[in-house]
Amino acid sequence: MGTPDEAAPDSGLPDSGLMEKVVNLAKRRGFVFQSAEIYGGFRSTYDYGPLGVLLLRNVKNAWWRSMVQYRDDVVGLDAAILSPPAIWAASGHLSTFSDPMVDCRKCNERHRSDLIGDTCPNCGSKDLTEARDFQLMFKTHAGPVEDEGSVAYLRPETAQGMFTNFMNILTTTRKKPPFGIAQVGKSFRNEITPQNFVFRTREFEQMEMEFFVPPAEATTWFDYWVEERYNWYLDLGIPKEMLKLRPHDKEELSHYSAGTTDIEFLFPWGWGELEGVANRTDFDLKAHSAASGTPLEYFDQAANERYTPYVIEPAAGATRAMMAFLLAAYDEDEVGGETRTILRLDWRLAPTQVAVLPLSKKAELEPLAREILGMLQPHFQCDYDVTQSIGRRYRRQDEVGTPWCVTVDFDSLEDKAVTVRDRDTTEQVRIPITELVANLISRTTPTN
Ligand code: ATP
Repeated sequence: MGTPDEAAPDSGLPDSGLMEKVVNLAKRRGFVFQSAEIYGGFRSTYDYGPLGVLLLRNVKNAWWRSMVQYRDDVVGLDAAILSPPAIWAASGHLSTFSDPMVDCRKCNERHRSDLIGDTCPNCGSKDLTEARDFQLMFKTHAGPVEDEGSVAYLRPETAQGMFTNFMNILTTTRKKPPFGIAQVGKSFRNEITPQNFVFRTREFEQMEMEFFVPPAEATTWFDYWVEERYNWYLDLGIPKEMLKLRPHDKEELSHYSAGTTDIEFLFPWGWGELEGVANRTDFDLKAHSAASGTPLEYFDQAANERYTPYVIEPAAGATRAMMAFLLAAYDEDEVGGETRTILRLDWRLAPTQVAVLPLSKKAELEPLAREILGMLQPHFQCDYDVTQSIGRRYRRQDEVGTPWCVTVDFDSLEDKAVTVRDRDTTEQVRIPITELVANLISRTTPTN
């Protein structure tokens, strides 16, 4: 399944302690918790805490805005996670969605043989079993009887929902190729070696879009989507030198693909896939037509021609992208002679955009501070914090990436103005309360 995790880096790796710092910050500040921690943890599953759920949601919303809201040729879908074996037989997943697996005879650890070569990374032994294929789909039973007839699978990708609903969407939306169907949601893979925090987990979220095109236009649209998706990461703040495009060799291509280019990010351990853009040809629509007996085709009235569209698919991971945004945003600088930790997240991704901070806990400031909070909440995700010194509170907001802090002080009661502090520059300016919303909005970039 794609790129080995330990892909050799071909440029300098970022700070080697970065991963540990980001994982610690994520736990300490409530981004990501180990799942079932009070029971000792459940391997490879994570819960997203108060800040993590906001960051992850912002990543998904940014994707949805650029893929659906700002386009008139893409519509959305939210398909079921539980699905019958027929879908996965037709898609090829039942026969081919597997990874080669070996067991170490010395320590009994199980590994993906394509990632480790001939040595067990756990104990160094070379006494490994022959590789055998390991099915990655989670199998369960739907209904009261556990027999062959009740087998169901948790989807390992969201894509198939777009293919099986192709005719429903054609007839209900009047869309015609080129057009796309987009979906964000959970997928499940019984990964042999989940690792690297939320990079590879057994339960994760995907953001996928199937773009249906006349076959002759497939190459043009493939190039278009590779560029669009690459620019999406750049626009949201990932530096150019941490991103690269990697076209797949012929041998690496998935069974359905006529061409795939991965968008890779420079993780602390090397380059790793963030997203794959694939030309899936007419493989899926034809396979589901044949297996279901329902023709999945488009009738082009103008040309009086019936054809099966080709599909260009940008397939991204929301949880993996969230991790990349965190790693790229993490920074340390010096303010007032002290080291500060800062997440330089784009304001569209920052869990909280504005923190309202009354200078003191004294009761006189609270009514005005709460009034300001109420003014800002329709426009921004806000935090309200009265604990500790103002300096400590600024640091706490910097550490979780809040772009703007609004401080309400005793002068505010008289001059009807507040101080706005910028996370990146630490610059503070006095703004009349009546102009506050407009001022903060003017600091934002367009939400595309
Ligand atoms: P990999 O090579 O890393 O196993 P893949 O090539 O199998 O990934 P795709 O099937 O192309 O991945 O899935 C599209 C995207 O979904 C990936 O680029 C990644 O961002 C995300 N993804 C896939 N598997 C996982 C996982 N186990 N945990 C988190 N994200 C995942």
